[in-house]
Amino acid sequence: MDFALTEEQQMMRDAARRFAEERIRPTMEEDEKNSYYRKELVLEMAELGFFGCLAPEEYGGTEVGHLAASIMAMELARVSPSWGLPFNMQMNGLQTVLLNHGTEEQKKKYIPGLINAELFGCFAITEPNTGSDVASMKTWAVEKDDCFVLNGNKMWISNVPYADLGVVYAVTDPDAKPKHRGISAFIVDMHSEGITQKAIETKLGLHCAPTGEIYFEDVKVPKENLVGKLGEGFKICMQMLDVTRLSCAARAVGVGQGCIDACVQYAKERTQFGRPIADFQMIQASIAEMVVEHEAAKLLVYQAATLKDEATRRSTFETSMAKYFAAEAAVHAANEACKIFGSYGFSSEYPVERFLRDSKSFQVVEGTSNIQKIIIARNVLAD
Ligand SMILES: Cc1cc2nc3c(=O)[nH]c(=O)nc-3n(C[C@H](O)[C@H](O)[C@H](O)COP(=O)(O)OP(=O)(O)OC[C@H]3O[C@@H](n4cnc5c(N)ncnc54)[C@H](O)[C@@H]3O)c2cc1C
Repeated sequence: MDFALTEEQQMMRDAARRFAEERIRPTMEEDEKNSYYRKELVLEMAELGFFGCLAPEEYGGTEVGHLAASIMAMELARVSPSWGLPFNMQMNGLQTVLLNHGTEEQKKKYIPGLINAELFGCFAITEPNTGSDVASMKTWAVEKDDCFVLNGNKMWISNVPYADLGVVYAVTDPDAKPKHRGISAFIVDMHSEGITQKAIETKLGLHCAPTGEIYFEDVKVPKENLVGKLGEGFKICMQMLDVTRLSCAARAVGVGQGCIDACVQYAKERTQFGRPIADFQMIQASIAEMVVEHEAAKLLVYQAATLKDEATRRSTFETSMAKYFAAEAAVHAANEACKIFGSYGFSSEYPVERFLRDSKSFQVVEGTSNIQKIIIARNVLAD
């Protein structure tokens, strides 16, 4: 596979790098301390065309593709993992669902607003008692007159309490066998009567990115907001996760780069025993491991993204490999970085402790590392 970036992809990477340095870095540390979310930065990202990579021009997109989107997510996460998340919320989640399964009317109505960030998006799968076992969700929707009535509770949803629009997965046939065939997907106006969005304020990291809980109480969802057919929600959700997962892997690669940048500089500046600590072979070994794992993770992301852009076959296997490896490599890199920084690795004065806290999310979101290993093993063990 040839991973030489096109001129367009290089331009998008440079634009993301500039945005990260000029718009995110100056206020990020302060915002992290205060758990402050700057909505205006999402609007600026939208203005730069960051969220149009997947959609065709007729809906306001540029269709530059998954590789361009992944490279941009890497660049933002290199500075702040929190700020890699809007790619999933504005683009990879809802837009993937709409582009693959939406009616023409739904696409026209919602995709432009997600691209220009007039609408802040979210996708809601997880519940207090349902995580990896998606098919066991309890939130339910019942058909009544000209709408579906939605009840239940979603948990750990990114962009809540700021979401305007969500794709919400709910049980429409509790007797379906197998049970995943009883799940449907709905586009939901998150300001509808009966919806409460509440921030989760007990997170380990990602303090510049909102995460929250949603309560649905007799929420009326118009029938035309069903996406795909009744009972297709699980399939739609898995296809969506296959795309959001890639972006998560790209963010993890960005963290790897951020750790390497910080360690290279620190190891040259910090002296002990009369020499820069970069002279010590054990420090060099740590940095070498970080670099090799980072490069390997990046290549896995490039491979999965390129396969998605080529669209000649499914890339679930390659995407899970990228997500699993990049998540583990990011946590390893951040852990090693904290050790290289000594006591300063334990201090919020430097970015590495934040990278360690933030990178733990990669092992959980969009399917845990165990779930990725299950997908990978199933692929190779299949007859
Ligand atoms: C910052 C953040 C943002 C998030 N954003 C969103 C969002 O926008 N939308 C959304 O819907 N969700 C979101 N989530 C939720 C996330 O996707 C889930 O937490 C994740 O899928 C895991 O579910 P769980 O936490 O319930 O863990 P569980 O499923 O309860 O897993 C607990 C442990 O058991 C392991 N395990 C479970 N099943 C198996 C198995 N079959 N074999 C081996 N091990 C297994 C898991 O790997 C894990 O180690 C977010 C979470 C976080 C932390």
